[in-house]
Amino acid sequence: MRQQNWLEDLKKIVGVRNVLTDPMALLPYSYDGYTLVESTPRAVVLPQSRDEVAAVVKILARAEIPFLARGAGTSLSGGATALEGAVILHLSRMNHILEIDVENEVVVVEPGVVNVHITKAVEPYGYFYAPDPSSQQACTIGGNFAENSGGPHCLKYGVTVNHIVAAEVVTVDGDVVMLGNLAGEIDGPDWLGLLIGSEGTLVIATKLWLRLTKQPASSQTILALFDEVDEASRAVSAIVAAGIIPAALEMMDQLAIDAVERGPYPVGYPADLRAVLLIEVDGERHEVLETAREVEEILHSHRVREVRLARTSEEKTRWWANRKTAFGAMGLISPQYYVQDGVIPRSQLPEALARIAAIAKRYDIRIANVFHAGDGNLHPLLLYDGRDPQMVQRVIQAGSDILAVCVELGGSITGEHGVGIEKIEDMRRQFGEGDLKAQAAVKTAWDSEGLLNPGKLLPTAPRCHETGSGPVKRD
Ligand SMILES: Cc1cc2nc3c(=O)[nH]c(=O)nc-3n(C[C@H](O)[C@H](O)[C@H](O)COP(=O)(O)OP(=O)(O)OC[C@H]3O[C@@H](n4cnc5c(N)ncnc54)[C@H](O)[C@@H]3O)c2cc1C
Repeated sequence: MRQQNWLEDLKKIVGVRNVLTDPMALLPYSYDGYTLVESTPRAVVLPQSRDEVAAVVKILARAEIPFLARGAGTSLSGGATALEGAVILHLSRMNHILEIDVENEVVVVEPGVVNVHITKAVEPYGYFYAPDPSSQQACTIGGNFAENSGGPHCLKYGVTVNHIVAAEVVTVDGDVVMLGNLAGEIDGPDWLGLLIGSEGTLVIATKLWLRLTKQPASSQTILALFDEVDEASRAVSAIVAAGIIPAALEMMDQLAIDAVERGPYPVGYPADLRAVLLIEVDGERHEVLETAREVEEILHSHRVREVRLARTSEEKTRWWANRKTAFGAMGLISPQYYVQDGVIPRSQLPEALARIAAIAKRYDIRIANVFHAGDGNLHPLLLYDGRDPQMVQRVIQAGSDILAVCVELGGSITGEHGVGIEKIEDMRRQFGEGDLKAQAAVKTAWDSEGLLNPGKLLPTAPRCHETGSGPVKRD
């Protein structure tokens, strides 16, 4: 039986001011970092505690109204956009670092804490929080939990799933469940691992216990400037094949370099450069010196034009700021851009980049490449002008062709940005009928009515009965 006065009930739980229904107030919530689809939520609720989240969820579930959590809305796959008339629970007010437990090397946080604030808080104790998405100045740890986010330093240290030891979550029925433990030991099926990366479709995280990593004694950041993209790609494979696991191994091509050099943190790359590698090695001082020397040798055997070693921490910070603001810098060379995210085996980098260049030519668009080369995690940035509907269609098709290349080369349709709305149909490229049926069974077990974040991730998930306002695909 549907509950008619659900909105009034929500206001009683979180307060009138924390329930937004005014169309102007809802506008900023009608999309996230994936701007090709817009869909206005039915309402936005701003809970301040786990108990408020659980109570809100109970009211919405009883009223059969779909809902989803939202952090900073930086999802690049539409994960935080409300479909099917869903209500958004915006968790930005649950943004407290609750405890820094140095003895157990764990920090306890609410889901709305911004990623970089964790490292800033634990730095004085000699620690950092390793997963560092390039969006870390804005994205929240709840979003990282949902997307199993990665980042440049995840090559050596592992992605989010390797750094969450326990989680408190609220289920679709409003129950509070604890998973994992302080020791980070898995006993029996890895239920916590199942939830991390489930793109907000199974539970809402309300408290997270994160593993801290000791700051390395020493590190060296290296820039390698190349005249050929192919040589830069081969150098990436050669570094890893030599048994070196750098803390980070990033690559940008010429178009990306052009954009970042116009941005707020230019490094002074020559204009005719075809590719740059940003490499970081860390560890004990003697190890770092030795590894940096080995890396340099490999770079020279791949016809590197120039190798630069960061001499000061300011220089290192600037090089990283240059790289981490690369997506935003696209705005300096194009009205809009669409970020793709796919994975290929590292050895296929030269082939993948050549095929992406051919796709750009076929669809008559420009594609910049900025990516986590060491992981084989590609981020082609497809530049376009949204005022040209035909160009938008060409960009969407080119993005889909790039994913086909990733699958064909033995990789995957997403490395870290998730499936969300964007790639829901592309799931069929990667998984067979049986795989998708098994995945849908997991969703049904947690959320039989399909109320939590509908229309995302699984093309075969149960669907709720609500339709609400449908998404608008821009064309
Ligand atoms: C410029 C830029 C650079 C980026 N670089 C990277 C990168 O290097 N690596 C990378 O992995 N990603 C990157 N991203 C993508 C994005 O920042 C990550 O996916 C991030 O984890 C999203 O966090 P958020 O707080 O913005 O979450 P949102 O966008 O608000 O939400 C994302 C998903 O998480 C769910 N969710 C949010 N909070 C919770 C919660 N408490 N419980 C359950 N589900 C929840 C939402 O329902 C949604 O499905 C980048 C994005 C941008 C714009």
